[in-house]
Amino acid sequence: MGSIEFIILVLLIQLNLILVYLLIKSKKNHDSYIKESLFIDKITKLWNIDKFIIEAYKTLSINVSTPYSIVSLNISKFRYVIETHGYYFGDKVLKEVAELFLENLPKDSLSARYSADRFVFIIPFDQEDDIRYQLNKLYDLLEYVKIEDKIIKLSFNTGVYIFKDHDYIRHSKDLFVYIDKAELSRMEITSETKNQIIFFEDFMHEMFLSEKNIEENLENALKTNEFVVHYQPKFDLMNSEVIGAEALVRWNSKRLGYLYPNDFIPFLEKSDNIIEVDFYVLNQVCKLIRGLLDRGLKPIPISVNQSRNHMLSPNYFERINSILSKYNIPKHLIEFEITERVFLELDNAAEFMNEMNTLGYLVSMDDFGSGYSSLNLLNQVSFTTLKLDRCFLSDKADDGKSKIILKSIFKMAEYLDMSVICEGVESIKQEELLKSVGCNYVQGYYYSKPIPEHEFVSKYIGAI
Ligand code: C2E
Ligand code: CA
Ligand code: CA
Repeated sequence: MGSIEFIILVLLIQLNLILVYLLIKSKKNHDSYIKESLFIDKITKLWNIDKFIIEAYKTLSINVSTPYSIVSLNISKFRYVIETHGYYFGDKVLKEVAELFLENLPKDSLSARYSADRFVFIIPFDQEDDIRYQLNKLYDLLEYVKIEDKIIKLSFNTGVYIFKDHDYIRHSKDLFVYIDKAELSRMEITSETKNQIIFFEDFMHEMFLSEKNIEENLENALKTNEFVVHYQPKFDLMNSEVIGAEALVRWNSKRLGYLYPNDFIPFLEKSDNIIEVDFYVLNQVCKLIRGLLDRGLKPIPISVNQSRNHMLSPNYFERINSILSKYNIPKHLIEFEITERVFLELDNAAEFMNEMNTLGYLVSMDDFGSGYSSLNLLNQVSFTTLKLDRCFLSDKADDGKSKIILKSIFKMAEYLDMSVICEGVESIKQEELLKSVGCNYVQGYYYSKPIPEHEFVSKYIGAI
């Protein structure tokens, strides 16, 4: 296809997507939509953390003499709810909980969903008893929540930081220091007692500082294999064959317990420490592939997730080259997954991608469609794969408009010579929808959860 035809094609597809979008959102004006998608959490309709920081900064810098506390909470064993009832049920729980928060938090409070089942509030109290009273009132209301026809029993883990007179918020970013303090307090909760509330104390800050000075801890954790890699297979929808797998890290920390990525990756990303973890995962994956090759087994391509921090790191390409050469791994057996959001946040994304392409590495755009669609970037650089975010599989996914959007994406990918995989498939209904729109590759709990290496090898590659 010539370049003019290509541009026309991309323009047509963009036009198609825009028309569908206009149909769906015909009553909303464009500006408010953009604003909403930038600041409002899609599931709960609470503010996201960016908006929370802006508003909290305004509130705290205007009302300097008003007492305030910052509250960090999460739902106990929320992962268990998801594993038992599925992701969309989990979303409904989050939505219901957020509504009850909004209705019942004390007047002048601010609230946001931080990530997954983590919420953050600012409430206008500075006495422990008052804070406990307010939060317990809320938890009583939330003890039983009815979702669809099921009654779910909920309990919360809470950390609180009470603002002191001398706390100085010079810049909105300073707020993260206090949010971290509330989060650290919450992370002190180790027992299963329900609705525990822990207030920040200075000794936690000392631990935090040593955690901040994390190199040594991390080095230890890496040396003692506290990070473990699980593998989630990917399948061909037509013949159910395994076509690859995604490596997903977990931190089995002696001090902090068993942690899923969302609990520690955002923290490690703040300090670039994620880079070492990502290289560790890449190394483990290459080691696995080399072992399989040496035993005469036929490995499948494995993807690793790469954090945004790599794009600013000067020796990134050298390091990946050196790991792949050390194990002598053919490039088609490793794929790098980079989330869509990163490409919009960083100026050098296109440059980075061009270098990856020149070096012959396979790259997939992860979470495609999760809210930051990078259609323009598709015009400038090549990706091997588009990894569709699970938001396309919402409850309304069999609705005609979603089908049109999905079909357009598959067509576009075909013309651009990219494969598409849909992640987060949880049910046969979702599988049927995907089949009907021409999707070939899938990944999700419906087929397999992420599993430990030995289980993955024995089930999907060959006997150990
Ligand atoms: P992701 O790349 O979008 O990975 C998919 C996540 O969805 C995984 O969560 C996986 O367990 C989960 N998942 C898979 N199928 C389903 C499903 O059917 N339903 C639901 N509800 N969830 C499903 P996990 O393992 O907790 O990882 C979360 C995120 O952490 C990943 O999201 C990825 O962005 C990041 N991550 C994981 N490992 C690494 C790593 O080694 N390095 C970096 N930088 N990030 C990582
Ligand atoms: Ca991924
Ligand atoms: Ca993803």
